[in-house]
Amino acid sequence: MSTLRFSALQETLHRKPVFIEEKGRRSELFGKNVFNEQAMRQYMTKDAYKSVMDAIEFGTKIDRKIADQIAVSMKDWALSKNATHYTHWFQPLTGATAEKHDAFFETVQGGGAMEHFDGGKLVQQEPDASSFPHGGIRNTFEARGYTAWDPTSPAFVYGTTLCIPTVFVAYTGEALDNKAPLLKALQALDTTATAVCKYFDKNVSKVNATLGWEQEYFLIDTALAIARPDLMMTGRTLLGHSPAKGQQLDDHYFGSIPDRVMSFMRDLEQESMLLGVPVKTRHNEVAPNQFELAPIFEEANLAVDHNSLLMDVMEKVSQRHQFKVLFHEKPFQGINGSGKHNNWSLVTNTGVNLLSPGKTPMKNLQFLTFFVNTIKAVHDYEELLRASIASASNDHRLGANEAPLAIMSVFIGSQLSAVLDELENVTKGKLSPKEKTDLKLNIVGKIPEILLDNTDRNRTSPFAFTGNKFELRAVGSWANCAEPMTILNTIIAKQLKEFKIEVDELVEVKNLKKDEAVFNVLREYIKASKKIRFEGDGYGIEWEKEAEKRGLSNHKTTPEALKTKISEKSIALFQEMKVMSNIEVIARHEIELEKYSKQIQIESRVLADIARNHVIPTAIQYQNTLIENVKGLKEIFGNDFQNYAKEQIELIKKISAHITGINSNVEKMTEERKEANKLHGQKNADNYCYKVKPFFNQIRYHCDKLELMVDDNLWPLTKYRELLFIR
Ligand code: ADP
Ligand code: MG
Repeated sequence: MSTLRFSALQETLHRKPVFIEEKGRRSELFGKNVFNEQAMRQYMTKDAYKSVMDAIEFGTKIDRKIADQIAVSMKDWALSKNATHYTHWFQPLTGATAEKHDAFFETVQGGGAMEHFDGGKLVQQEPDASSFPHGGIRNTFEARGYTAWDPTSPAFVYGTTLCIPTVFVAYTGEALDNKAPLLKALQALDTTATAVCKYFDKNVSKVNATLGWEQEYFLIDTALAIARPDLMMTGRTLLGHSPAKGQQLDDHYFGSIPDRVMSFMRDLEQESMLLGVPVKTRHNEVAPNQFELAPIFEEANLAVDHNSLLMDVMEKVSQRHQFKVLFHEKPFQGINGSGKHNNWSLVTNTGVNLLSPGKTPMKNLQFLTFFVNTIKAVHDYEELLRASIASASNDHRLGANEAPLAIMSVFIGSQLSAVLDELENVTKGKLSPKEKTDLKLNIVGKIPEILLDNTDRNRTSPFAFTGNKFELRAVGSWANCAEPMTILNTIIAKQLKEFKIEVDELVEVKNLKKDEAVFNVLREYIKASKKIRFEGDGYGIEWEKEAEKRGLSNHKTTPEALKTKISEKSIALFQEMKVMSNIEVIARHEIELEKYSKQIQIESRVLADIARNHVIPTAIQYQNTLIENVKGLKEIFGNDFQNYAKEQIELIKKISAHITGINSNVEKMTEERKEANKLHGQKNADNYCYKVKPFFNQIRYHCDKLELMVDDNLWPLTKYRELLFIR
């Protein structure tokens, strides 16, 4: 056995769970390291506090003098938590988070030193971050980027650093991160949703999107992972024969959590509590060594920050427990992959969930309005929503029989389908008194009762209504939720804007009563958006055929899916809703294509390296043993040796054939890579997708066959059965 694999197994077998002491009740720990309302009230002057709260609620600017006061309070609070440094914490277009630490410490003229922090440093920083992706924005404008404080997401202390959530923008105003467009989308949504809410309740002055994500992940012992260059470099295994036992017995799902994993989870949960991430649910997932963690839902911007923060914390905490955490959507072939369901809804400042049916017919009409508009928005922008979850790693999951196909559809359940069917028949124009009563009492009025015993849930739908929220299930486990959330909230904002225009016109021009007008517009939307609704099995081949007939898109690869992002329709949408400019949209598209190509390029190089430098030499070594054996048999048996060496000779031939298979495919793949590298943008990504990537399976095929033939003692890489079942 290779020394690395051997020592990895030894090390793993002697692991003990790391002992984790509970630091106190969870409710007492919660938010302890967050500069939240409670801490702000304690540390800030009244004026400063009010100013921050106004900025959060109404987006008002914070005066420079007040910013100085806030900074001093923030520093004092952070010092009380033993912080020594501060950082502007941001989410560049790499999808991860970034930070550059500066000490509070400063020397004072005339000797001595002190801790210092002021409004200028709080509000704006200029990280020398020229290496982050910018899609040509900063080259074109020769502008630098800066980070700007986002007061809507509270600062927190992690370790000994005060982290200040920020947006990252170019001096010319273009966003260079995932958060700035998200904040703009949420702003657009607030504006149009609040306007629509006023039809039903004049007291509503703000609407927030809510997000509750569910993070799936794998835990692999560090030592075992280190013996796999593919896992370390790409986050997934590029080869490896499937184990005799995989997940076919479903014995891991919701099973008892292993001790080592449990201490990791407890440690992680305590860290999350301190950081104000309200994690609540933990369980085993379908695949061996796969787990899930979900928090209580929050306002979308905060939930996005919390997911990014949590992924960072998970990496750090997992190291303490000698685990490597895998966020890749498909780390193991033949074993379920990981997703990140995004539960999404809308809530008013008066505390009403707009996607939850209410107690009165009026409240239900409001529910139906937001419900039907959501369906219509997904219908109109299904391709864009598909594009929002596209990535090289998520391509392995979508349509791979465990996650929804790459086709967007909406599931609402049979009862709500029946309600929409009835509403389709609402009279055009003015309604008779009987019809009004009928609608209010018998259709709209019945919704809460209906939903109460609405048990049909469809796990195969990419966008499902689940009683009081929609669940976008196609998001990948590695994704930054900001991308799908920006697009979902933008298309809903646009749809609600259209809705208001249409209703107002019926009221003003056709003299319809407000609810008559609402019913009339909803009726048209229900008719127009029918093709996006699908209640059947979303994994089946029949649906693929049916969806094609309906004219729904089915983009199976990222380079294909991403095209929609720069379509005229998408660019117009982003501009109209003031979420992104033309330049920003195009720059992002370029970055995403490049990211795709680079990821495939890295995988291709790693695979070639492992196949040639690990697998082939091992195969040859074993083949030599066989050759020695055959020679020995010949010495003993002379011409009779054939009778005794048949199997060995067969194996020697097969090994040679697989070695040839690997070599010729690696060579062809390398040639294709060279060709791809001469191209740019779409063509570059297309070549990586359609010319380079197809070799992966061929090379893997030969490697995996060799894994089954070669002496287990010689095999250099930890095997699936070791990675997945030892902990
Ligand atoms: P389940 O769907 O498994 O029965 P829940 O309905 O309680 O469980 O919630 C599942 C996930 O949906 C949780 O992560 C939760 O935070 C989130 N969620 C619940 N309500 C909302 C909401 N109004 N907006 C956004 N997310 C929500
Ligand atoms: Mg799940």
